[in-house]
Amino acid sequence: MIKNRNLPGPRLNINNKNNLHKLYDLYLESERSRLTKHVDTYLKAVIVFPNYYGVAMSNLGFLRAYELINQSEFMACDRAFLQNDTSKGIISIETRQRLINYDLIFFSLSYENDFYNILSILAAEKIPFLSKDRDKSFPLIMAGGVIAFLNPEPVAPIFDLMFIGEAEAIFPDFFKNIENKNKYEIIEASKKIDGIYVPSAYNFIFDKKKPNVLNKIEHLLSCPEKIKRKCADKDYVFSSSAITTKFSELSNINMIEIERGCKRGCRFCSAGFIYLPLRESAPDDVMKTISSLGENEKAGFVGLGTMDSKNINKIMQFSLDSKKPFSLSSIRFDCLDENNLNLIKETGIKTVTLGIETGSPRLKKLINKDISNDEIVAALKNIIKKGIVNIKLYFMFGLPCEEKEDLDETINLIKIMQKEFVESSKINKRIGLLTVSFSPFVPKAWTPLQWENFEDLNILRGKKDYLLANLKHLTNLNININPLNSAFTEAFFARGSRISNNILIYSFMNKINLKKAVYAKGYNINDFIRKFGESELLPWDIIDQGVTKKYLLEEYLRGINFKITPQCFEGCKRCGVCR
Ligand code: SF4
Repeated sequence: MIKNRNLPGPRLNINNKNNLHKLYDLYLESERSRLTKHVDTYLKAVIVFPNYYGVAMSNLGFLRAYELINQSEFMACDRAFLQNDTSKGIISIETRQRLINYDLIFFSLSYENDFYNILSILAAEKIPFLSKDRDKSFPLIMAGGVIAFLNPEPVAPIFDLMFIGEAEAIFPDFFKNIENKNKYEIIEASKKIDGIYVPSAYNFIFDKKKPNVLNKIEHLLSCPEKIKRKCADKDYVFSSSAITTKFSELSNINMIEIERGCKRGCRFCSAGFIYLPLRESAPDDVMKTISSLGENEKAGFVGLGTMDSKNINKIMQFSLDSKKPFSLSSIRFDCLDENNLNLIKETGIKTVTLGIETGSPRLKKLINKDISNDEIVAALKNIIKKGIVNIKLYFMFGLPCEEKEDLDETINLIKIMQKEFVESSKINKRIGLLTVSFSPFVPKAWTPLQWENFEDLNILRGKKDYLLANLKHLTNLNININPLNSAFTEAFFARGSRISNNILIYSFMNKINLKKAVYAKGYNINDFIRKFGESELLPWDIIDQGVTKKYLLEEYLRGINFKITPQCFEGCKRCGVCR
């Protein structure tokens, strides 16, 4: 179970049973909501985020699904979260009912590292983990969210249904088909709905000799061979936080979606591929939401490439004119210019976050994010000159083909940036904080690098020590290295299979860590984090994602040959998404 993060929140001992109710009262009092729920609905639904309240409430996908479910006329949907105290089961925040008493349970999945929390929640409600072990007396249990349609397999046997794609595109058909049906009739009807995966209708056959190698996926004749991912029409992509609260990780920030998808094609980024094609929110929708913000609310512009949006300057200007401060999610260095930097400065942003990934020119080509170190340093100087004093930079290590020389290039770039940071800050007569965060590279399904391995933990430890030894003496530099074990868990499940599900449950039931569970079940760690064969059947081949496997393989080969691929363009049909 993931420990409670340092969330803003009232200081209550939430292990005390009565205090959970007090805590939920406080949370509800703090919320600003635009939602109206139908009353007298005949179905009771609950959406569960397998982490704590503060994390859930800063997740736009969770809030969007909650809002859409409540738009159905025959369902009223509550919310539930991971709790520290589960002795009285898991209760919803609104009506304080136990999960087991709902007709429908929707899980919203965003992180592989939350998989253990799914089991904690079901165990607290004494609900059998596997769909096949639950009869009609149990609620219908479903899952959606980015993890569900990236690679559902490591959790697929848990759920009766999974949503493959974007909620706006799937829910209307689903809701139309479930009215006045019982649990089994809903499952049956769902087999014919595009974008819905009924895991029990598929049988994954593994090689008897080669561990965790998939030979065949069998399916019932009543089901499609592959589940087509559904994505929202460009006119329906806009979303923003239906509820804001000061107790979310993004205290009182209303997340406003500027665009969905990304045209850049960075080869490590799963979201960049599964949300294709790029769709921009209508500026009118964005501006209407900005105008409706409450006194204490801020606008938080989100999207994979927020600064790529052709409307972003107009939107930032509108926000400033409306006296609504805004913040931005991670920015690309090559998107910053005099105009947008002035707007960012004017709103009072003191920290910008930029993903650099690597200082090595050849690895920049490998990941298809080829912004030169000179451009990066020049942009850094401009940012500081504008009076934005804190800069957070994200890097990866353990990338495919990475050698010591590549790490040295990253170290050199950080040294140059730190020097420029200190020098340029003198103009402001104030030195802020330069933070560099390193994360191990985790190969993800539906990316060109999906065939690559996750690096051996001992090698990663050596690389981490090397980075630290070379950087820790620099002044005004804060260094974070994400825990290797958590990256390992993420990597284990990101390309996991139904065998991974078996190991997940075994590890939870026996209270042993993942690695011990792998060995106890007769496997090796490498069976799960290894390089996958280019012609190998992959667990997530159950999905028709739009992007073809052929295109990803071409991109993989271009990557390991250090070739850049241009971004999406008008009339392009190369990856299979635009027809
Ligand atoms: S077909 Fe071309 S333009 Fe469309 S999403 Fe794929 S790469 Fe981008």
